[in-house]
Amino acid sequence: MNKVLGIDLGTTYSCVAYIDASGKPVVLKNAEGELTTPSVVFFESPGNVVVGTPAKESSKLYPDEVVGLVKRSIGQPGIAWDIHGASLTPEEVSSYILKKIVGDAAAALRAENLLEPDEVIRDVVITCPAYFGISERESTSKAGELAGLNVLGIINEPTAAAITYGITGMIENKVVLVFDLGGGTFDVTMIDIQPNAIKVICTGGDHSLGGKLWDDRIIEYVAAEYARQTGNTDDILTDPETLQELSLSAERAKKMLSARERAPIAINYAGERARVELTREQFNSLTGDLLERTMLLTEQMLEDAGAKGYSRGRIDEVLLVGGSTRMPQITERLEAYLRIPVKIYDPDEAVAKGAAYYADRQSFFADVVEKYSEQTGRDEQDVRREIDEGAADIKELARAVDMEEGEGHSAAASIGIVNVTSRSFGTIAFESVGASEEEGGEVLYNMIIKNTELPAREVRQFYTVAENQRTVSIRVLESLSGERHGAPGEGTEIGEAVLELPEGLPAGSPVEIEFRLNESGLLELRAVETAQNREVSARFETVDAISENAYAEAKRRLDETNV
Ligand code: AMP
Repeated sequence: MNKVLGIDLGTTYSCVAYIDASGKPVVLKNAEGELTTPSVVFFESPGNVVVGTPAKESSKLYPDEVVGLVKRSIGQPGIAWDIHGASLTPEEVSSYILKKIVGDAAAALRAENLLEPDEVIRDVVITCPAYFGISERESTSKAGELAGLNVLGIINEPTAAAITYGITGMIENKVVLVFDLGGGTFDVTMIDIQPNAIKVICTGGDHSLGGKLWDDRIIEYVAAEYARQTGNTDDILTDPETLQELSLSAERAKKMLSARERAPIAINYAGERARVELTREQFNSLTGDLLERTMLLTEQMLEDAGAKGYSRGRIDEVLLVGGSTRMPQITERLEAYLRIPVKIYDPDEAVAKGAAYYADRQSFFADVVEKYSEQTGRDEQDVRREIDEGAADIKELARAVDMEEGEGHSAAASIGIVNVTSRSFGTIAFESVGASEEEGGEVLYNMIIKNTELPAREVRQFYTVAENQRTVSIRVLESLSGERHGAPGEGTEIGEAVLELPEGLPAGSPVEIEFRLNESGLLELRAVETAQNREVSARFETVDAISENAYAEAKRRLDETNV
């Protein structure tokens, strides 16, 4: 059977899982024997890249050649690291992490004779925060492609955790709140675990709020203590080596405070040494506002869920995932706030395991579609589209080609998984028909509204303005607004939909464009020139997509590099 992997590509740590012969998800160890790999990349020399714990440990000595927290920059415009004369995009840096962890996972499977010596693994599902928009998802997918992987899907981390919880815990009929605080991101999601389906109701969060900010507060505190104890007023944090050293010891102290009342931290700079003993109480007071921000975002999400008919009284329990939920103040605060049981659930592995379940499900679907297309002579793309649009049912297709439900696959193959979009997607429209195209008349028209179930589709009619117009380009904006109409300034432009029209259309010809957000939250377009009902080529170009040249350069470097 084709081996597929689920990958939790975390801000600070990454983890890989597969489904074993008995249908259970299992996390695979890396070459260092660890179950999670630090998402840190050390560009040792051109052609030599080190990923994981050895890279993290090198950060002190080589701060300029080590990149961490790359997930914070994925999908953000114009970010690159200049190392050894190359300009490295977040996609490229992430692809080294993927290459390392997938390579190690394959080696672990080979060691157990579960993979042939010459067999490689290509098919993967990668997770991302529910809060990621299209650019971040596109970039994550591109990173996978660069690493030579076939990305079967991108799935939200809380959904992945809920899949693991639902299936391995055999949980049914429960509404859970997944509170996911990782190293760099925060997501809060309400999920209804039904007997045969896992349904996301609402999601919210902040993709720059994570454990690293708790570390930063310790770093600032220790730097201030250093100044107080030594009288040296230099800004010690501008020295990269000191900053790296402090980052490592701050994270260590933070973790220690999850289990104990006190944590010592020592700092050496300019020949002077300071020592700080941080108490849990002090730490809580230094970071209290960060905790409150997670509560505020939870409250906002609960209000959105309430508007969809899911009142907070319906929540049965809170599931904590993500390494940072090990901080005891999170459980204490949530229990006081929601007054429902709070459970820490497999914080390091639940996401990767859920991704493995989802990957297995996707590969079962792919097998069914392939077999069905072979037997009926139908085009695979058409069959897929019918499934997405609800016109065909995967279970019926499986039966039609004599494939038992989920044959050879895990329980995930036979459950429904319904996700929602965390953002709204729209275009610029004009306030009234005939209004001039002057700025004053522009409004943001949201075609797909936040927290709508995926896949979602919406059709809009446009008209050509000139005779023989050959292209139409439509600005696509993403926003957090939950309304149909808004001010253009509420949205962030994420790209352009470009339609190529046939020759000879008169001015005012109607063109219908369909926006579709697929299950992975990626935008797909279809357009039809309605007068003669001709399909029109439609592409979506993201603003920040890595350029063709940068991609080719990155690919060449990656192929020539030992990871
Ligand atoms: P994740 O992205 O889910 O792997 O979470 C990683 C984050 O969890 C990092 O910021 C870690 O410092 C943090 N973390 C891991 N273990 C602990 C712990 N015992 N106490 C506090 N934070 C932790």
